Amino acid sequence: MGMSIKKGDTVKILSGKDRGKQGTVLRAYPAEGKIKVEGVQMVKKAVRPNQQNQQGGIVSQEAKIDASNAMLVCPKCGAATRVGHKQGELDGKRTKIRVCKKCGHEF
Ligand SMILES: [Zn+2]
Repeated sequence: MGMSIKKGDTVKILSGKDRGKQGTVLRAYPAEGKIKVEGVQMVKKAVRPNQQNQQGGIVSQEAKIDASNAMLVCPKCGAATRVGHKQGELDGKRTKIRVCKKCGHEF
């Protein structure tokens, strides 16, 4: 599938009610091609009382969105950009490195 968005990335939302928003990826689901982004696609959910929330009730939480509806934001130049890929080393491991098409930053 080749999803290039990972947990901790900043992305810009391209469609839906949160179009134009930027947020941090809370979790990536590469097998499904989906991500959860902080503050994006909030849904209300009823929860039973538990340790953290002794009252129970309605909470807002992020729902998964298609990774194809989000674009990576380059951590260096801040452009929402399609990224290229190259083979390289990151943290001492051979891996696919993402390259910002705008500024050339590798991340
Ligand atoms: Zn860049």
